[in-house]
Amino acid sequence: MTELRFKDVIKKYGKTEVIHGINLDIKDKEFLVLVGPSGCGKSTLLRMVAGLEEISSGTISIDDKIVNDIAPKDRGLAMVFQNYALYPHMNVFNNMSFGLKLSKTPKPEIKQRVEEVAVILGIEDLLTRKPHELSGGQRQRVAMGRAMVRKPSIFLFDEPLSNLDAKLRIQMRAEIKMLHQRVNSTIIYVTHDQIEAMTLADRIVVLKDGYIEQVGSPLELFSNPVNTFVAGFIGTPPMNLVECTINKKPDNTFIQFKTELKIPVPDKQGKDLVHDQKVILGLRAEDLTPVNSSTSLPKDWIFSGSVMVVEPLGNETHLHMDIMGVRMMSKSEGRQILKPNETIKIGMNLNEMHLFDAKTTRVVY
Ligand code: ADP
Repeated sequence: MTELRFKDVIKKYGKTEVIHGINLDIKDKEFLVLVGPSGCGKSTLLRMVAGLEEISSGTISIDDKIVNDIAPKDRGLAMVFQNYALYPHMNVFNNMSFGLKLSKTPKPEIKQRVEEVAVILGIEDLLTRKPHELSGGQRQRVAMGRAMVRKPSIFLFDEPLSNLDAKLRIQMRAEIKMLHQRVNSTIIYVTHDQIEAMTLADRIVVLKDGYIEQVGSPLELFSNPVNTFVAGFIGTPPMNLVECTINKKPDNTFIQFKTELKIPVPDKQGKDLVHDQKVILGLRAEDLTPVNSSTSLPKDWIFSGSVMVVEPLGNETHLHMDIMGVRMMSKSEGRQILKPNETIKIGMNLNEMHLFDAKTTRVVY
């Protein structure tokens, strides 16, 4: 069992508070990803867990034991950094076993652990090589191996893939996920890349300016973002977010844009919306697609729009649209043979509409 708990954790650098009272429970064997833009406090949180950064107030506990004052080496965790800095003059075996030697683990046990881990990572044939004789991905595996041989109860990863090229990143992402399935440890993983977060995590914590914005499974965050920040941060391309005003009539409710465009609010909800309320419409690009006459969408969910830019990605097409003076992005499967300035019918799946209060940015519908 390895559970981790943040309770009212605050971090100050000098007088500047950068982490503002974080409360979070991480479950045994969970793959938890901390994600957010640069400077939001991800590394600081991870470094506090590792013991590399003092906690200004509040507590971090591992299995109900407060670790604030416990030395990093006694916390039972291992960290893999972005700059994994292998010792250049040592071969892979010695790089992986260095920590075990320092802790005076008996030699036969060191050999056994390194060999076991090398097999898991598929680097058993590289043990006598020096780091400069390895590819970027192999070096990253050695860095993970170095952490794994210590059999930590918690792995901490700080942007471990950001120095790798795009293709290798995708490959290593899958390897880290397989590793988690295999070793079954608790993992806390920091990244600024929402796709990495979505593909790896059991649960994602979205951070902004030292505050938690939302915690949830990848699909929860995607389907039910609690505010415009999470809505715009999770998903590719980002969700369309457009300011508008609620127009409430006795029998129906519309959202009115600054232009002629008005969109009906599906009538099943909307009871909490107030006439004249300033809101932000959130609609994902995939809920906005070119349609023909055979569409099953209601008539008043179909709009006329002008194509501004076509981005053909092969398996899908992104369109930058002007829909009655409002710019929105559409994403549809396959190829769309369209040209700029062409006028087309765009169907909006308004069942997937999100509305956020313009002032608080919090979801209201
Ligand atoms: P992230 O990992 O999300 O990019 P960090 O945890 O590195 O963010 O930083 C969070 C905030 O703390 C930032 O505003 C950063 O400038 C500040 N910060 C980080 N380390 C220090 C430090 N050693 N001294 C002062 N401020 C720091």
